[in-house]
Amino acid sequence: MSLSVQPVPILKDNYAWLLREAGTGATAIVDPAEEAPIVAAIKDAGGRLDLILLTHHHADHVAAADALRLRYRARVVGARADAHRLPRLDRAVAEGDEVALGAARARVIATPGHTRGHIAYFFPESAVLACGDTLFSLGCGRLFEGSAEEMFASLEKLKALPAETLICCGHEYTLSNARFALCVDPDNAALQARAAEVADLRASGRPSLPARLGCELLCNPFLRARDAAELGALRVRKDNS
Ligand code: ZN
Ligand code: FE
Repeated sequence: MSLSVQPVPILKDNYAWLLREAGTGATAIVDPAEEAPIVAAIKDAGGRLDLILLTHHHADHVAAADALRLRYRARVVGARADAHRLPRLDRAVAEGDEVALGAARARVIATPGHTRGHIAYFFPESAVLACGDTLFSLGCGRLFEGSAEEMFASLEKLKALPAETLICCGHEYTLSNARFALCVDPDNAALQARAAEVADLRASGRPSLPARLGCELLCNPFLRARDAAELGALRVRKDNS
């Protein structure tokens, strides 16, 4: 069983993620918010879309879900807690539920903080995490609806995943996150190396993602925060930076 992951750049700085299970060809898109580039990516990947996985209700993550659902007769999966403000769901899920993509299985992880009903999808056999706006490379999501305590608890769950986990997040924010991270943690050699790598990738027009969790654990100040208070203070500082 092998799962390939491909970021599809959409809108200004969002990524939808195309996930394809090689054995069966089953294909999913995470957080589709713009139809045309996603249709083009699906065409290149074999023309099939089975699943639409939603992490949270913001328009820049869901706007094309209804159109793609109709176009491909795909099933839409999203958080039960937010079913009232998500596009029409074929399956409403919560923490611990399993979602099948061909031979691959994802576990649903509740990750409130950015929004109340935010969820992530973790594929343990291929160590792939689709985490929307909870965790970014070198950053984390803004606290629109949740507290620092909730975000800290959500990040604790993600930190416990295997170090080789590939983080497929919702935005290309890594360069600006790197600038902030270097301000708060200037002597971190791992962070300096990651910031240089990201600058190279972006300078040549390549995505900085997916990121490796093991690298983020060394570099990301929001994952290195010792407690919710420290995380909250960092988040305020970043919001005002
Ligand atoms: Zn969002
Ligand atoms: Fe977003």
